[in-house]
Amino acid sequence: MTRPDAVVIVGESIAGLTAARELRNRGYAGSLTMIGREPDGAYARPPLSKEVLRDAKKEAHLAYPHADLDLAHVRSAAVELGTSSRIVTTADGRFVPYDALLIATGADARRLARPAQTGELVLRTLADARLIRRRIERARSAIVVGAGFLGLEVASACVARGVEVTVVDSESPLLRHLGPFMSGHVGAHLTRHGVRLIQAARRVHLVGDPVTGVALPDGGVLSADLVVTCAGDVPAVTWLSGTGLAGSWGVAIDERCSTSIPGVYAAGDVAYLTPGTGERASRAPFWSNAVAQGKVAAASILGEPRPHPPKDDYFWTEILGLPIKVVGPLPLHGDPVSIEGDVDEGDAILRWESPGAARTVVAYGRKIPVGRLRTMTNPSGPR
Ligand SMILES: Cc1cc2nc3c(=O)[nH]c(=O)nc-3n(C[C@H](O)[C@H](O)[C@H](O)COP(=O)(O)OP(=O)(O)OC[C@H]3O[C@@H](n4cnc5c(N)ncnc54)[C@H](O)[C@@H]3O)c2cc1C
Repeated sequence: MTRPDAVVIVGESIAGLTAARELRNRGYAGSLTMIGREPDGAYARPPLSKEVLRDAKKEAHLAYPHADLDLAHVRSAAVELGTSSRIVTTADGRFVPYDALLIATGADARRLARPAQTGELVLRTLADARLIRRRIERARSAIVVGAGFLGLEVASACVARGVEVTVVDSESPLLRHLGPFMSGHVGAHLTRHGVRLIQAARRVHLVGDPVTGVALPDGGVLSADLVVTCAGDVPAVTWLSGTGLAGSWGVAIDERCSTSIPGVYAAGDVAYLTPGTGERASRAPFWSNAVAQGKVAAASILGEPRPHPPKDDYFWTEILGLPIKVVGPLPLHGDPVSIEGDVDEGDAILRWESPGAARTVVAYGRKIPVGRLRTMTNPSGPR
């Protein structure tokens, strides 16, 4: 395979920039164009909910460095992809040709508002975080729709500012990913810190225009000064319409991050690994996964062997001062083995294992290097 002369990356964030750096590290000296639609350029999203909602000064540390990568930047959204012509069209009317293309457009926040309903707040971008922070500063009460990681981090930021918070979901906190054991402990932790948890029988609806609250399935209505929707994300694929590359799950990739079209690769939150027989398609929209896939995609673009599998199932969160780190496959079922500490004290290392399946290890309330946590998932490691 010959090396491409022109590589274009659409999506200026961690998957795209990791691929760009890996291409340069592997000696690629050709043209490298980065198409991004955000005025703030490339920055880390995880601190948005953990730090930036609480403190504007934390914005100073978000930017991903890239001055050394010799990138040609196009700051405009990609609006169309011609897979036969090998051209990306941007909103400002440019036509950007490529030999190899990396789709790294990530995801957008899932919205619950009706089409014309205004005022829904979501958290995906730095601009979103700035807006929510300003609203938190003026609020006395908040409703967070969604008891996943993001929703609980937003709730934590509200509590830190003295705002009374209600979290509404049809499931208990973190249940979908971390299972009933962890959900119970995290729920108790939230309640101890004054967060009101409401488990609705079904999906809730936003009320007001602009949004002022939520309607519960039982007919009740909750209102607050601030309502934030944290109801998951949807792959950013509208610009791929007509290419056959994307469906509602995003862009399917193989173990080399190749798509179904030669010369087109995908990585990060926009992509999902083609499932094996009998498996369900699912994305893993986490930061470490985006890094792993960015590196694999770069190697594949250059026709080189992949450095490691195109996935990394590590992620972390912090809920009301409680750090949680997870390494291993999700979702979790059943009860864990306690390796160290005491989960009731909010300081433990827990392991889930089942015959023939990879282990998952959780550091609950304990700051521990991720490398150490990874060794604990090893079947020949400590028991
Ligand atoms: C608030 C928040 C907190 C998070 N916390 C954690 C955490 O603690 N741990 C963890 O593991 N993960 C966390 N995540 C998830 C993590 O940030 C994502 O998995 C990661 O950012 C994915 O990287 P990506 O490069 O694939 O996509 P993204 O970061 O979504 O970047 C995609 C980029 O492409 C741009 N784009 C989209 N469409 C177009 C287009 N048509 N043309 C040009 N550009 C386009 C977008 O604007 C964006 O800049 C968090 C996410 C959020 C929002």
